Amino acid sequence: MSLNTCRRCGTCCRKGGPALHQTDLGLLEHIPMSDLVCLRRGEPAFDPRKGCLEPLEHELLKIRGKEGGWECVYFSSQPTECSMYEHRPLECRSLSCSDTGEIFVAMETPVITRRDIVPPGTALWECIVEHEKLFPVSEAMRLASERAEGARVTQDLGRMISREQHFRHALADKVGARDTDLWAYFGRPLWMVLLPLDSAFARYEVSPNFMSNC
Ligand code: SF4
Repeated sequence: MSLNTCRRCGTCCRKGGPALHQTDLGLLEHIPMSDLVCLRRGEPAFDPRKGCLEPLEHELLKIRGKEGGWECVYFSSQPTECSMYEHRPLECRSLSCSDTGEIFVAMETPVITRRDIVPPGTALWECIVEHEKLFPVSEAMRLASERAEGARVTQDLGRMISREQHFRHALADKVGARDTDLWAYFGRPLWMVLLPLDSAFARYEVSPNFMSNC
């Protein structure tokens, strides 16, 4: 086994599934939409090149994690294996434990976005546009940061998170899906995106109407 051979130890898979790039478009026939999540523009995401969380300048789609965590949904630990190894995406094929150069090159290539999976002009696309207009991550992040600094934005932020929850639940009910099945189209709920800033936002998971102290 050469140093560049994947040892299938699962270390990278436990840290999170890969972002998808344009060269992965053909793989979408093997990946159900419910296994994807959109990270929206403005979301804090770990940038391995800088070693820290950075707000995303552009949205991306990635393979989602299990049960609210980031461990790749296709990873199994006993034994360690990838259930779609033959069809694993570019970032997975590029990652070498001994040399991160190739993965950094792969990360610079154009990503898949929601425009690649939803035709503009369709009802679903209009819902995505509306959701983005009403509940932009950058605005939620701004309010959350001001709140952390003691500004009186609690009501505005609470209202925005609650309204987003209702938007999502109404849409999921209408199409007979679970919210998590729609993460490829609408990303994760705002309360979940804001969790790294304050664990108090988790209260919206059980009560979309939670308005106090948040
Ligand atoms: S797709 Fe497979 S190789 Fe890639 S992170 Fe997931 S489990 Fe690991």
